[in-house]
Amino acid sequence: MNASIVLLPGDGIGPEVTAEAEKVLRHVAARWHHQFHFETHLMGGCAIDAEGDPLPAASLAACKNANAILLGAVGGPKWDDPKAKTRPEAGLLRLRKELNLFANLRPVKPHDCMLDASPLKREIVAGTDILFFRELTGGLYFGESGLRGLSDGSEIAFNTMSYSTGEIERVVRLAAQAAMKRRKKLTMVDKANVLEVSRLWRRVSERIVKAEFPELAYEVVLVDAMAMHLISRPSAFDVIVTENLFGDILTDEGAMLPGSLGLLPSASIGSDGPGLYEPIHGSAPDIAGKGIANPLATILAAAMLLRHSLNLETEAAAIEAAVDKVLQSGARTRDIAARGATAITTGEMGQKVLEAL
Ligand code: ATP
Ligand code: MG
Repeated sequence: MNASIVLLPGDGIGPEVTAEAEKVLRHVAARWHHQFHFETHLMGGCAIDAEGDPLPAASLAACKNANAILLGAVGGPKWDDPKAKTRPEAGLLRLRKELNLFANLRPVKPHDCMLDASPLKREIVAGTDILFFRELTGGLYFGESGLRGLSDGSEIAFNTMSYSTGEIERVVRLAAQAAMKRRKKLTMVDKANVLEVSRLWRRVSERIVKAEFPELAYEVVLVDAMAMHLISRPSAFDVIVTENLFGDILTDEGAMLPGSLGLLPSASIGSDGPGLYEPIHGSAPDIAGKGIANPLATILAAAMLLRHSLNLETEAAAIEAAVDKVLQSGARTRDIAARGATAITTGEMGQKVLEAL
């Protein structure tokens, strides 16, 4: 297949980890006879330095024309001045909005050979393989808000949560489609015993699943119960779909299960157009430029890119299997190495994945 992929290495360790993921994608292209066309563009702090804009017009145009985008990380102390006109993260928010990326995907799949890194008992976390779909562009974070003073000198503030039928349908549909390609189980998380918005989520998602995905095992779980289930029986879930605020909290809770930040990818996708793929970790300014960052989260983000934007399941699974194999062989970057154990560099880890592929 022919595909154009935009690379946004960004700041801090972003360029180091993206370089390893690019090598893996180039290797996949050669081995499976695909034509991947790569273009690298500025986004984040580096773009502020070069162009005064965290998302320069040329970068945005390239992203819009691409089949998929692979991002490293943006931000760092250099651009943290509260008086600054713009911030690196503003570029990312604008990019998500411009591309209408309304669904955030986060897999939670602890690696078998690293179960001891989990804060949970190994028998509880073993076998966990969850894919979260968090609605990303609606709900409480984007509703009306206000703050006003009261006559007694105190203040009152409010935020509103609203969702339209269409906003619910499109993310539930993507989640259901993904579940059909996995273990055919979909869990919708809400707070329908209290919130009117949740009652609409419940009606709409039930209708979509009944009409379009009758083969799915479908369940609804209240968000407070879900917070407990995630740490008591995480292996009971396949795809979990939920609104923005609940998803924000639950995906961070989920991210703790594998016990290491450097291994977790994420994706933001829409109904059509390019998806955006990135590691969930930040730019890690404390270790930038030292060649010790763990590139595996970004390499796994590249696997998600192949699966969700290019529909290349075999190739995606091959990358994931290669990462598993490398971890099983005992190779560790510093962040996941046992205390006192020897650690390998970013480049060495990338090389090992290539060899395993
Ligand atoms: P952001 O606000 O951009 O999300 P953050 O403050 O949450 O950033 P990170 O940049 O994710 O933090 O870093 C948190 C810690 O994890 C740091 O000590 C960092 O060095 C470490 N870390 C993050 N990513 C990696 C990685 N890929 N490899 C090794 N260590 C990492
Ligand atoms: Mg952070």
